[in-house]
Amino acid sequence: MSIIRPITNDTVHRICSGQVITDLASAVKELVENALDAGATTIEVRIKNYGLDSIEVSDNGSGISKEDQESIGKKHYTSKIEAFGDLDTLETFGFRGEALSSLCSVSDVTITTATALESPKGLQLKLDHEGSVISKSTVASQKGTMVSIHNLFSTLPVRRKVFERNCRRDFSKSISLLQAYAVISIEKKFIIFHQTKASGKVVQFSTNMNSDINLNIMNIFGTKLSSNLVRWQDGFIEGYISRPHVGSVRLSSDKQMVFINRRPISLPKLVKAIQEVFKMYSMSQAPFFAINLTLTEGTVDVNVSPDKRSVFLSEENFIIDFVRESLQRLCEGTAHSLTESKLQ
Ligand code: ADP
Ligand code: MG
Repeated sequence: MSIIRPITNDTVHRICSGQVITDLASAVKELVENALDAGATTIEVRIKNYGLDSIEVSDNGSGISKEDQESIGKKHYTSKIEAFGDLDTLETFGFRGEALSSLCSVSDVTITTATALESPKGLQLKLDHEGSVISKSTVASQKGTMVSIHNLFSTLPVRRKVFERNCRRDFSKSISLLQAYAVISIEKKFIIFHQTKASGKVVQFSTNMNSDINLNIMNIFGTKLSSNLVRWQDGFIEGYISRPHVGSVRLSSDKQMVFINRRPISLPKLVKAIQEVFKMYSMSQAPFFAINLTLTEGTVDVNVSPDKRSVFLSEENFIIDFVRESLQRLCEGTAHSLTESKLQ
């Protein structure tokens, strides 16, 4: 008697969704990436009660056309790639077509959307846990999309309990991630609200259509931090880092942001290398930095993990060595190609 059977689609969906949306931060990140991919210039995030009550992301992007509305919650349905080879020239954050379907599987999703043709009228769609549209109603809506998530992880009781226990930590991880997207987004406006019963609606941070990331840094982290940064521009590296040689002045933040081709990523080896070099020149313990590495097509593989934060780099050692040597030159102040600019 055979004992090996296929798992039903519904079960596969639930198993995999828990890996795409692992915590509040991954839910927020997927929604913001979708807004950016839709060409939005204004992105508003509203989180209620550390995300336990709701998360809402509104954008003024393309909107979702009527023809696509039934597909939006389906697993592996995407408008961003058609074939594997498209990954080499990918210009969008998303490509796996699984964020919205996974969010449907683990929460209650409502989407309000209007394209330029339909605005000021739009449609509000409610989706079920399988990603099917269960109700549609006409509402007033400007061009763009608003995705609302309620009861995150209500379908995964253990994870909901963990979320309730760790909601403050998850919330601050989400804010850090949002800061990274806001820092790297030029000429876009981000505004992030958090609402609790105790404190009402509070703006966490905002940016305002800035033309350089140093102004984004200033909007988000304040002038005290931004005025202590130096510009770091060398070969494929572009960004800002804490001014070395600041003596015993302790820096107020130790945030480290690495972007590859403007995608926020996690590359602990590179962060460690930067910290090591910086320590040799500075008393402050950890530098703030936000750097973008412009790498050529075909040398970066972003399809390593469902959250697309991990990457494989075919020239990893070369890149890390170059960054290390470049920072040494910057710290020694010898490289004439490096310009130092004090931010206002
Ligand atoms: P992916 O981003 O990998 O394509 P998602 O599940 O995140 O997968 O989204 C599925 C599709 O829904 C996207 O390809 C896009 O066409 C559409 N979509 C999602 N969010 C938005 C949005 N905010 N504005 C416009 N279209 C959107
Ligand atoms: Mg997406």
